Amino acid sequence: MTGRAQLMWDEALTGYDFGAGHPMDPVRLALTMSLVRAYGLDQALEVVAAPPAGDSTLQLVHRADYIAAVRRVSADPSLADGSYGLGTQDDPAFAGMHEVSALIAGQSVAAAEAVWRGRVSHAVNFSGGLHHAMPGAASGFCVYNDAALAIARLLELGAERIAYVDTDVHHGDGVQAAFWQDPRVLTISLHEHPRTLFPQTGWPQESGGEGAEGSAVNVALPAGTGDEGWLRAFHAVVPQLLGAFRPQVLVTQHGADTHMEDPLAHLAVSLDAQRVVQEQCHELAHEHAEGRWLALGGGGYAVVDVVPRSWTQLVAIAAGVGLDPEGDTPEPWRREVYARTRESAPSRMTDGFRPRWRELPDDGYDPADRLDQAILATRREVFPSHGLLPLH
Ligand SMILES: [Zn+2]
Repeated sequence: MTGRAQLMWDEALTGYDFGAGHPMDPVRLALTMSLVRAYGLDQALEVVAAPPAGDSTLQLVHRADYIAAVRRVSADPSLADGSYGLGTQDDPAFAGMHEVSALIAGQSVAAAEAVWRGRVSHAVNFSGGLHHAMPGAASGFCVYNDAALAIARLLELGAERIAYVDTDVHHGDGVQAAFWQDPRVLTISLHEHPRTLFPQTGWPQESGGEGAEGSAVNVALPAGTGDEGWLRAFHAVVPQLLGAFRPQVLVTQHGADTHMEDPLAHLAVSLDAQRVVQEQCHELAHEHAEGRWLALGGGGYAVVDVVPRSWTQLVAIAAGVGLDPEGDTPEPWRREVYARTRESAPSRMTDGFRPRWRELPDDGYDPADRLDQAILATRREVFPSHGLLPLH
């Protein structure tokens, strides 16, 4: 299957490290790549290390003064005073911050180029998906918005319709902001409700700027939503919109922080439901975008129990390799997990669930159900802009 898919990886990506005690521990990337290798997935696709994004690429999304500020604190972290969101509790400055953030962005941009040029159908950068970074500020553990940069590069290469589906538990606010007034980019974010979670945006009424009405889509899920509800929301919104929009490329963000064990959020999704959504994204790319699929990582703070398994199954899907979820995780990987973290590794690739989504008959909405209310609010807001009926 060589040439079909590629995985972006460079050991230096683990240098994206905000320091001890920060939730975004880079061991999550290292343990993911180890698990990918333990399953031999690195033999089933091409592993590629791309160069860092240069300034002209970063400026497709980010302001020059912000990039200069990142460079400044990267060279001397003591200069970070909170301006541009740098030196905050969420985004503490660290030496080399610019270089490694640009390296992450470079992976997503190169992955987008490979997919657009047809060198591969699918490309994965699980170190990316840093969806909170704004044009002029760091935010929510994100410095440069690799997702937005990849999309901007696709536009520069001539793409006319790009769909971005963000399944992280947090709203994909930075990507939405970057393309708020651009009808060529459809952003769809499913996330925990802004009332209960950072970044407190992503209301269904946020649906795109002037000239791009309906190009931003937000499903605000009630805290506590589990597998059935999460899958129902995905299936009630994403396939319909992609069918109407007909993207040339599908970019997806797979933050693993929807998981029930995630310490920073309050959804109750299993690894098994995450796999269903990953598989769906893959199928939707084939159905609507001639297979052109760029899959990114994102959040995920259960760094041992959840993230490596979630993104390894994502890599397997992109590589076209069936991993048995019931199978045991490889013993050498478990030993490595213990050696690095003194925590015991999960023993299987499943959480033991077999999630299904509730089907949606024409009149199947329950007006008293908070999840159905959330879905309907979104569909009423944006479906008419795409020629779709909110109730069908
Ligand atoms: Zn997140």
